[in-house]
Amino acid sequence: MKRVIVVGAGLAGLVAADELRRAGREVTVLEARDRVGGRVWSRELPNGAVVEMGAEFILPGNTEVVKLAARFSLGLWDKGMRYGDRDPRGGIGTTKADVAAAVPAVEAALGSLGDERPSALAMLESLELDPGVREAMIARVEISSATPADRVPAADLAGLAHIGQDPSPGVAGGNQRLATSLASELGAIVRLDSAVRRIAWGEQGVRVATESAAGGSGAELEAEACVIAAPASVCDRIEFDPALPAGKSSALAAVAYGQAAKLLVPLAEPAPVGAVLNVPERYWCWTATGAGEAAQPVVSCFAGSAPGLEALGVATGPERWLASLAALRPDLRLEPGGAVLSTWDDDPWVRAAYSVSPEPALAEALAEPVGPLSFAGEHTGGAFNGLMEGAIRSGRRAASDLAY
Ligand SMILES: Cc1cc2nc3c(=O)[nH]c(=O)nc-3n(C[C@H](O)[C@H](O)[C@H](O)COP(=O)(O)OP(=O)(O)OC[C@H]3O[C@@H](n4cnc5c(N)ncnc54)[C@H](O)[C@@H]3O)c2cc1C
Repeated sequence: MKRVIVVGAGLAGLVAADELRRAGREVTVLEARDRVGGRVWSRELPNGAVVEMGAEFILPGNTEVVKLAARFSLGLWDKGMRYGDRDPRGGIGTTKADVAAAVPAVEAALGSLGDERPSALAMLESLELDPGVREAMIARVEISSATPADRVPAADLAGLAHIGQDPSPGVAGGNQRLATSLASELGAIVRLDSAVRRIAWGEQGVRVATESAAGGSGAELEAEACVIAAPASVCDRIEFDPALPAGKSSALAAVAYGQAAKLLVPLAEPAPVGAVLNVPERYWCWTATGAGEAAQPVVSCFAGSAPGLEALGVATGPERWLASLAALRPDLRLEPGGAVLSTWDDDPWVRAAYSVSPEPALAEALAEPVGPLSFAGEHTGGAFNGLMEGAIRSGRRAASDLAY
């Protein structure tokens, strides 16, 4: 097999392209947006703070992200704060120490799950927990999974093990440097503003048609195989000819996605690093270091789950969230005029934040190749779905599925 087309220049697509090119294939990457990175998108605020509009933390065990950063000598920023260390505020009321003390009980219950797949909510409600602790745990899981807890598998509560002091760094200068480094090595084979609208496929290979953002007709390319590294949530924007087999199209349609938004607010003066969890309003916020020991002059907030976003009025702008933040963090000197709101449900190239862990049979069906088509993306990332780690691993797996 010689020529391969990769759809999507997020981490999954770029890693697949990198693998294939290193294996001697002739690769073209087609990306709908005018930038690479997809849900990894870093920006610098006018006051110099580097912020992440999407993926931010490299979680414990996310070894492939770390290796990719090392390959490009990018370095990591420790951030000073810890992803798992959030001070819970509001609601019934609890403390960080009480939440942490209850984690072993949750882990023990997870250990005795067997084949059962209750929801996170059902499991937390079945345990004898202090009501304030339970409420804070439900908030944690709804925020991190970006999904109401009755739709999150209990197994995902294992993420609560991240309560603690494990480092949760980011790439120095912004996570998007992972994508831009890969793309600059790939060079001109990465084509931006090239949305794939049609893929004709068969034994002979694939014929892929693109269009530009303005809707103008784009190019038609032929290849022997294609890696589809677009989110499952927007695969219905691509016309497949013939249609994908029922098993594959229903698997893509069955992926559940969470909704999340971020609010990035410059600070008139840097504050000590740390994180606070707003339990009833389903968001958390943090201040963190960048290069060196100094805190960046910004507070970052992350809200998860569609009801959470609705309660914060995210669809109508940052005002309600800003008011809530000002009440939560009177210790910070916010500069609301410079606030940046980052939403993904209204982004046409993903329409959501990230996938909810699929059941094993669905995960298998999502990763399965179909003729000359192989499939990548965080939603096919197995145990690392929903993360940069899952995207990177999926890109590598999808490249190897093409049996080069
Ligand atoms: C708010 C938020 C916070 C997050 N926080 C973290 C975090 O802290 N840590 C972490 O590890 N992960 C986090 N994630 C998840 C992480 O961003 C994703 O798992 C990962 O970046 C997904 O990579 P991907 O390549 O699978 O998909 P994407 O990054 O979505 O890339 C897919 C690409 O395909 C393109 N595309 C779509 N359709 C077409 C088409 N028809 N033609 C051509 N191109 C197309 C898109 O434009 C996009 O560039 C977060 C995500 C969000 C939204």
